[in-house]
Amino acid sequence: MSTAKNNTGSWRTERPVIDQDACIRCRTCWVYCPEPAILELDKPYVTKDGRRYDITYEIDYDHCKGCGICAHECPTKAIRMVPEGVEE
Ligand code: SF4
Ligand code: SF4
Repeated sequence: MSTAKNNTGSWRTERPVIDQDACIRCRTCWVYCPEPAILELDKPYVTKDGRRYDITYEIDYDHCKGCGICAHECPTKAIRMVPEGVEE
């Protein structure tokens, strides 16, 4: 069943959080995510150590089901899973 039109966010016990300074914009999370939950945005970002990117990856929490695949596959460990209800 496609969840593209369904809100799966309420299924989660953990949510992924992307550290934009650790992200190298490799797109791996976007490729592996089984839901349409990783957004590839035309949003420039400059990291604290001065790397410039034209795109930013963000999580669409309305569609993320909290499976953790993105965090597992990220080559720089830029994504961590945070328990729901816990502030970052
Ligand atoms: S897999 Fe990790 S480094 Fe690659 S785009 Fe996603 S968050 Fe960034
Ligand atoms: S936790 Fe799963 S559903 Fe959510 S963004 Fe990561 S890979 Fe996609």
